[in-house]
Amino acid sequence: MTGRRIRRFVGGTAIVAIAILTGVGIRQTSRPAPSSAHVLARRCRGVMGTSCLLVAIAEDRESGEQALREAEAALRHVEALMSTWLDDSEISRLNRAAAGTEVALSGETAEVLGAARKAARDSEGAFDVTCRPLADVWRRAGTRGVRPSEAELDEARASCSWDHIELTDSGAVKHSDDARVDLGGVAKGYGIDAAVRVLAAADVLGGLIDVGGDLRCFGTDPDGGRWRVEIKDPFGGGPLAHLRVGDAAVCTSGNYARFVEIEGRRYSHIIDPRSGRPAGAVASATVVAPHAMTADIWATALSVLANRGLGMLPAGVDALLVLGSADDFRIVCTQGLQSMIEEPLPAGLLVVGGREPVTEAGPMEDGG
Ligand code: ADP
Ligand code: MG
Repeated sequence: MTGRRIRRFVGGTAIVAIAILTGVGIRQTSRPAPSSAHVLARRCRGVMGTSCLLVAIAEDRESGEQALREAEAALRHVEALMSTWLDDSEISRLNRAAAGTEVALSGETAEVLGAARKAARDSEGAFDVTCRPLADVWRRAGTRGVRPSEAELDEARASCSWDHIELTDSGAVKHSDDARVDLGGVAKGYGIDAAVRVLAAADVLGGLIDVGGDLRCFGTDPDGGRWRVEIKDPFGGGPLAHLRVGDAAVCTSGNYARFVEIEGRRYSHIIDPRSGRPAGAVASATVVAPHAMTADIWATALSVLANRGLGMLPAGVDALLVLGSADDFRIVCTQGLQSMIEEPLPAGLLVVGGREPVTEAGPMEDGG
């Protein structure tokens, strides 16, 4: 059966939806939500360049609402430290700094940079926050509508390396003026984890932090069961699948959401640091992990690595990839993730692998 035919069954688009929005939920008799519990929701805009939804299931309304306000503040705090869109963030200061000048960093920013450096090793270079110079080249190319020259790409590639950035006890030092980092593929996850810590400390029965479709939930959902999370169909329409998760983060990346268009062709905002070109074969990569930072990192990494990356996933991390284009696509997922899918996907469309790389559904095209 081809992907196109199967789309009739799976259809549609929608970002992550949860039980509270869809009104659908599976009850768990072992953990009923007390009838006195309040379902509190807070929406905010302009957080990390997107909108967010914060939910708390709380026995006490006032302390639950206070916890939601503090959780939003935690997200905004991470953004203020790490966004490259804000000139006075720590990361913007590091990016502007001259080689040899140590830039003082908060423990939070240092922690994210340390995790990002480790992820670069674990993903064999596919996840690399130092590839900002390459991303800038492609962004500029998108603005002028002409592909970058090989010379431009070579020059940018030479600036992208952890060899140019040293993490010190109190901050970081660049060893090249041109080195720049971009935490766009990891800071959102870190922020979600920080916000979840705030909610969990407030003693709520359950909670969910969703920032632009990346989310982490814990405890009971509004119906007293596990949370229901929707995976979006990257080609438009409705949901691709629904997952049931307990305490977990679910993050999705891919070339469908953000891209630049050059000479009539779309290029992903995710760069393959090894080729210096936008990643191409993965329409969407959804990762389920205990922490949102891990899920965020690996969703971006798998957007570069495609199914080859499934074999690199850390223990306890699962993934589902949609490979190819709307006319010809495959879904590949780990066994762990398959067990979370609520309604089985049509056989023939879904290739399930263990932690080994799955070879039957290779990338459809490269990003060049
Ligand atoms: P989104 O922000 O749309 O949820 P991601 O989490 O995948 O998507 O993050 C994409 C962002 O990560 C890019 O906009 C860029 O800032 C940064 N980025 C791009 N390519 C890479 C890469 N190979 N490794 C690490 N970060 C990357
Ligand atoms: Mg990411």
